[in-house]
Amino acid sequence: MGSERTLAIIKPDAFGSGRAGKIVAHLESEGFRLVAARTVRLNQEGAEAFYAVHRGKPFFASLVDFMTSGTVLTLALERKDAVARLREVIGATDPAEAAPGTIRALYAESKERNAIHASDSLDNARAEIAFFFAGVELA
Ligand code: ATP
Ligand code: MG
Repeated sequence: MGSERTLAIIKPDAFGSGRAGKIVAHLESEGFRLVAARTVRLNQEGAEAFYAVHRGKPFFASLVDFMTSGTVLTLALERKDAVARLREVIGATDPAEAAPGTIRALYAESKERNAIHASDSLDNARAEIAFFFAGVELA
């Protein structure tokens, strides 16, 4: 498989506690190239739209509160097999279950406050990159 793009978000827990730089360095050390990056303060409408697939789940309202609680850093990332490799590098949703050395094992606080988001499919990666970045930013 050739070079691919995916989206990561460094979430408010990690950004607010000054861990964004370490997480970006970790991603670069795993071979991801930063195509585009931007700090964003999501509003409720934006967070609900981004996580629309989870609407109706018991954790949805709390997730939206968390994601709007502070600044996030959105990253369009590129490497071979980027979608699958980024999911491996971030680790399981719950840091207690994340493999040692993964970003969530190293930096996440809890299943909700888990430091980083990653797209879960190539189709979602395309949609999520377009959610945050204009085409002109992605050359
Ligand atoms: P993300 O989509 O942020 O990369 P993920 O794909 O590992 O995370 P999802 O199932 O898509 O996990 O859940 C989205 C986010 O919702 C999680 O990253 C976490 O912040 C929160 N979340 C998921 N499940 C729970 C739960 N049971 N309790 C609290 N928060 C949860
Ligand atoms: Mg997900």
